[in-house]
Amino acid sequence: MPNPPRTLQSVNLPSEWTPSSWRAYPALQLPQYPDAEALEEALVELRTLPPLVTSWEILSLKEQIAEAQDGKRFLLQGGDCAETFASCSSGVISNRLKVLLQMSLVLVHGLRKPVVRVGRFAGQYAKPRSSDTETIDGVTLPSYRGDLVNAPAFTAEARVPDPRRMIKGHARSAMTMNFVRSLIDGGFADLHHPEYWNLSWVGHSPLADEYRRMVNGIGDAVRFMETLSGAQVHNLNRVDFYTSHEALLLPYEESQTRQVPRHWGWFNLSTHFPWIGMRTAAVDGAHVEYFRGIRNPIAIKVGPTVTPDQLLRVIDVLNPEDEPGRLTFIHRMGATQIEEKLPPLLEAVRRDGRRVLWVCDPMHGNTESTSNGYKTRRFRNIRSELEQSLDLHAAAGTRLGGVHLELTGEDVTECLGGARELTESDLERAYHSTVDPRLNYEQALEVAMLIVRKQEQ
Ligand code: PEP
Ligand code: MN
Repeated sequence: MPNPPRTLQSVNLPSEWTPSSWRAYPALQLPQYPDAEALEEALVELRTLPPLVTSWEILSLKEQIAEAQDGKRFLLQGGDCAETFASCSSGVISNRLKVLLQMSLVLVHGLRKPVVRVGRFAGQYAKPRSSDTETIDGVTLPSYRGDLVNAPAFTAEARVPDPRRMIKGHARSAMTMNFVRSLIDGGFADLHHPEYWNLSWVGHSPLADEYRRMVNGIGDAVRFMETLSGAQVHNLNRVDFYTSHEALLLPYEESQTRQVPRHWGWFNLSTHFPWIGMRTAAVDGAHVEYFRGIRNPIAIKVGPTVTPDQLLRVIDVLNPEDEPGRLTFIHRMGATQIEEKLPPLLEAVRRDGRRVLWVCDPMHGNTESTSNGYKTRRFRNIRSELEQSLDLHAAAGTRLGGVHLELTGEDVTECLGGARELTESDLERAYHSTVDPRLNYEQALEVAMLIVRKQEQ
């Protein structure tokens, strides 16, 4: 049965929602396109292009998130801070997938529950910035806002918002999605062949050794079961993989918002699981208005300035009917603030009996700059936020149901510490991110292992 359209008497918002009703609300972090005609032309084209995902997939992810809310699954969401058009290549995409598959195997094995796998990719091209402009050597230019908007080079020309970039971004997202789907359909995620997920550039590494020991153990168990039953264990050759991105650039998101014949309502068909970033999370802002009308499962970042009352209002607006799987809160407080800021929020939501999935992003509250000018994060702070998070949920009687990470399968040195104890001088060696520092392979595996160890305690 389709859900009837609902009204929102409890909050002061008009009940009339359309894919463009956000335009009447304050919209932060959107570029000013200099050429209105070129913008409209691009949007007309985008509205006619086929969608990147289907409503069936979106609704099955919603069911998986509902199961995670009930403690039956754990959500792993990860990928680049910002994808770039230049990094839409076979190696980058498959290496990132390999890391996520390895992490999810560690989590499934250690937590003894299925993992909801969500990539931060196939559309993660628009970035919020803390400042509208950037000044270098006395020259001030508009900030880089992600490849969907402008280019990172520090020239006036590169920084002009270009609406044609949305069309290119849509195409790159489709190529990424197509490659990921083909890999998975072709058997890349087959548990009989975990060797497919080895990264060629990883040499000797204690963590990779620990991972391989675990994989060999699983392989033995699978072969044992198959010998016993005389048949292949089903479902080991396939996994579900979903996509997500920050749905920041609302004109683009609006153009991908469609009704589908077999399901009631509107879906954002550019991704399965869009989220609202911390800087655009105001309950009376344009982003919340856009999100309240789409049927996708949605997430919203929750930073240290959010009050319990604000959070409950966000739930009123985004999930007034307490629909299972609908709403995920991704908290990102920072290692020094989480102990003070998180418990009142957990308590308010628990006391009110609201259904949400709590996910920890231990990256964004722990960003700092080094003396040699790099934006970085210390592994020990990431680890500390995650560990505190698990403890605080346990103490509050709530459940940490997932983790949201910035990571890559490339050999980078962007975050400090971890198994190889990267130092500030290592950052120069392989710092490639255009925006935020990502976990490398070993740091990412270490996060998965520490979640498991902590839950086993
Ligand atoms: C991000 O996820 O890249 C991001 C900008 O996060 P936040 O909105 O939490 O700052
Ligand atoms: Mn980021």
